[in-house]
Amino acid sequence: MQLFAIPAFYDNYIWLLADDNNHCLVVDPGDAAPVERFLADNEMTLGAILITHHHPDHVGGLQRLTKQWPVPVYGPDNSSIAGITHSVYDGDRIALASPTLGFDVLEVPGHTLDHIAFYSDTLPEPLLFCGDTLFSAGCGRLFEGTPEQMDNSLQRLTALPDHCRVCCTHEYTEANLRFALAVLPEDPAFNQRSRDVAALRAAGQPSLPSTIGAEKISNPFLRVDDKLLQISLENELGKPLQEHNQRFAALRAWKDRF
Ligand code: ZN
Ligand code: FE
Repeated sequence: MQLFAIPAFYDNYIWLLADDNNHCLVVDPGDAAPVERFLADNEMTLGAILITHHHPDHVGGLQRLTKQWPVPVYGPDNSSIAGITHSVYDGDRIALASPTLGFDVLEVPGHTLDHIAFYSDTLPEPLLFCGDTLFSAGCGRLFEGTPEQMDNSLQRLTALPDHCRVCCTHEYTEANLRFALAVLPEDPAFNQRSRDVAALRAAGQPSLPSTIGAEKISNPFLRVDDKLLQISLENELGKPLQEHNQRFAALRAWKDRF
């Protein structure tokens, strides 16, 4: 299996996973054109589409793609998404025929209420397609859900194995790290990750996929119980934040203002 990040729009990636016979799936095709071009250039056959949530930059290419490729489309149970053939729910196990792969479905509300993630442990290195829930060094904005929902969703994802590859939909890593360093300027993990990502981006490479293990140390939203992070949050707000939930909400709100 080979994993590709097809750039789309300004900072989206449409993830494509292909087997040795060039049968592939794509995740969140917000735009059909770059996918069609990639399939043609690489003589690939589309076998399935996965959808994480209803936002246009994740579903915009669905109609046009499925006209040419009438493949199964797995996504959330949301009637506003035209083109889903298989609505899937938390705990569902998807068995794809082509490429031959299994995925577990996790409901991860927060960014939107319909947001789901797809986890595969049928590969030598497990893989997570998490849409706009977990970003490298950040998390999605709360358009529909509460901070508690997002926090719970992130905790479910970080319960996955450390070596699980994390495929997020946006190249937000550098911007997220600028915020992380505003919160904790001296943090060794934030600084190290910033240097690594700067080198990748300077070489024209995506900063993704990340891994669950890397996110646990270099993502401030997964570290709100960290003592120094708590102090920084309390300084920013000018009041004590005893509860984990308060700290998560305060960090998310700070990022929104940043
Ligand atoms: Zn979104
Ligand atoms: Fe998005």
